[in-house]
Amino acid sequence: MGQQKPLYFDYNATALIRPAVTDLMRDIMARPGNASAAHGFGRLARACVEKAREQVAALCAVHSNQVVFNSGATEANNTVLKAFAGGRILVSAIEHASMLEFDANAERIPVMPDGTIDMAAFEKMLDDGPAPALISVMMVNNETGAMQPVEQLARFAKKKFPSVFFHTDAVQAAGKMKIDMPALQIDYLSLSAHKIGGPQGVGALVVSPGARPAKLLYGSGQERRQRAGTENVAGIAGFGLAAEMAGGSIAEYANLAAWRNRLERGMKGIAPDLVIYSENAPRAANVTAFSIPGVAAQTILMGLDLEGIGVSRGTACGSGAVKPSHVIQAMAGADAPPDGALRISLGWGTREEEIDIFLSAFEKVASRADGRNAKKEEAAHA
Ligand code: PMP
Repeated sequence: MGQQKPLYFDYNATALIRPAVTDLMRDIMARPGNASAAHGFGRLARACVEKAREQVAALCAVHSNQVVFNSGATEANNTVLKAFAGGRILVSAIEHASMLEFDANAERIPVMPDGTIDMAAFEKMLDDGPAPALISVMMVNNETGAMQPVEQLARFAKKKFPSVFFHTDAVQAAGKMKIDMPALQIDYLSLSAHKIGGPQGVGALVVSPGARPAKLLYGSGQERRQRAGTENVAGIAGFGLAAEMAGGSIAEYANLAAWRNRLERGMKGIAPDLVIYSENAPRAANVTAFSIPGVAAQTILMGLDLEGIGVSRGTACGSGAVKPSHVIQAMAGADAPPDGALRISLGWGTREEEIDIFLSAFEKVASRADGRNAKKEEAAHA
C-alpha cells in the first residue's frame, strides 16, 4: 500500500457499511431471539424484522407486506427466474450474472453502444415471438451506471401483452434515485443490503400484489411462507436502517456527479485517449467505467492498488478470478478492450479531497504504464 490513507473507490461491489448500522447490528446480535419464537425475546426479534420491512418498503414506495427478506439479490433474481422456468423470458444482455447464469435459454435484449437498451431490437423481439412470460431489465447497470428506461419498457410490453410480468434488478438504483415501484409498472424488484450501506448476505425480493408467487426455498413458514429459513434478524435490521438512511440521502448522492465529473476531466487530462463507457447515457452519479487503449486494465488496477486505492476490473467472481466484462462486450462488440474495463465507484463516505488524491496516484500509474508501452514499442522497432 502507498503512503496515503487507503481510498475505497469500489462502492458498487460493496458500499462502506454505515456506522449506525454496525452499532444496531451489534446490539441485536448480543441478544437471543428467533423471530418466530413466542416469548419476549422472540417478539423483540420479530419487531426488529417488521420495522425493517417498513423501512425497506418505504425505499420503493410499496406496502410492507410486499417485502420478502432473503440472502441478497442473487437469491432474489434466481427466485424470480425459477417462477417462470419453461416460459419465454427476455433479459437484457447486461444483467448481473445471477440473471444470466441461471437460465441459459433466456433471450437477451441487446444494448446500444452507450449501454442503454436497444428499443428497436426490444420491440422486434416482442413482435417476432409469442407473448413473453417474464421480462427483466435492471434499473442501473453495476459496471457502467447506465440507467435503463424500465418504466417505458414495462408500459410498452404490458400494452402489447397484458399477461407479461416485469422484473427489475434495482440493486444499483436503490438510494441513488427515487424508486416508485407501482408507478414504474414493476411486478418484482430485487434489492441487496450491502450496496446501500448495510451488511452483506441480506436482501429482498419485493413482489407486487397481482404477481405470480415466486419461491425458491421450502421448509418452515417464515416470510409469510414465501421464503423458508430462520430470519437473519440482525442483518435484516441493518438492511432496514441502511434503507432508511439511503432513502433519506438521495439528494446528497446526486451531488456525487460533480466530483465524478471532475474525476473524469482530470483523468482525461492525464490520459487523453481515455474511453469512458456510457459517458453520454443517463448515468448514476457515482460511477466511471473506463479503459485506456493499449494499456492492460490489470496494470492500472495493480498500480492503483499499490497506491492504496481500491477500484475494480470486469466482474469479480466469487473465486477472485476476473473475466472480461460481458457488459462492455455487449456495448462495444469487437472494440471491447480484451481484458475488460476498470470501474471507479464512489459512495456516501467519499470525501471531495479523495478526488485529488486519486488523480495524483492515477497520474503516476498511467505514466508508468505509458513508459512501459513506449519501451515495448522501441523493442518492437529495434
Ligand atoms: N445485481 C446487481 C446489479 C449487482 O451489482 C449485484 C452485486 N454484485 C447483485 C445483483 C448480487 O447481489 P448480492 O451480492 O446481494 O447477491
